[in-house]
Amino acid sequence: MIIIKNSEQLKLMQKAGRITGEALLVARDVIRPGISTKEVDAKIRAFIERCDAHPSFLGYNGFPGSACISINDEVIHGIPSERRILKEGDIVKVDVGARYRGYNGDSARTFPVGKVSDEALRLIEVTKGSFYEAMKFAKAGYRIGDVGSAVEGFVISNGCSVVRNYVGHGIGAALHEDPEVPNFGRAGRGARLYPNMTLAIEPMVNAGTEEVRVLQDGWTVVTLDGKLSAHYENTVIITDGDPILLTDVDNDY
Ligand code: MG
Ligand code: MG
Repeated sequence: MIIIKNSEQLKLMQKAGRITGEALLVARDVIRPGISTKEVDAKIRAFIERCDAHPSFLGYNGFPGSACISINDEVIHGIPSERRILKEGDIVKVDVGARYRGYNGDSARTFPVGKVSDEALRLIEVTKGSFYEAMKFAKAGYRIGDVGSAVEGFVISNGCSVVRNYVGHGIGAALHEDPEVPNFGRAGRGARLYPNMTLAIEPMVNAGTEEVRVLQDGWTVVTLDGKLSAHYENTVIITDGDPILLTDVDNDY
């Protein structure tokens, strides 16, 4: 069941979204060669708690971190660890959720660590670009298939692939609500979008094969061919016009 939010709920989601977006700025500002993903996670958690919010991911299905932090060929769900030290040339995906008075934000970015390859920078740009292609169709009257088709078309035309095993989602009082929002699909198909639906739209884009597998830790999703993967996610409110990006507090990253 897709839950349309009322104005009170949207206000709380706006606040949760802002905290989530600002937590990613905290991550961006501490990411550098030599820092562990556990330290990045600790900074994120401290920030969210200072905002009177809770990290949505902490304990979610038993997840041990406040953020998912995934390096290079890791796609999503990387577990923060003191043994994972970022190094020059890595790309790191930070995926964060904050819950404020019962409502959630969810957002992800892919950050370069120091100087990275042109290939890596291009993958990050294609992934962000595919999110903005989705925004052209994330409006009342379009359908979920229009959103997915826009992402997929853009990614494939840029020589990359979209992850199909994991998808975006509705969001609100629950971190994951209906509908699923795949990064692929057929235009004109799927659930229709209405004003005040809230969605987490999140292209996951691979440089090589779309195929992924889960590591032995039971969480970390990696590309099957070991090539790079990037992620870009915002929580948005559907309107009759352009969507409102709740988690985007600084468009320059
Ligand atoms: Mg997320
Ligand atoms: Mg999400």
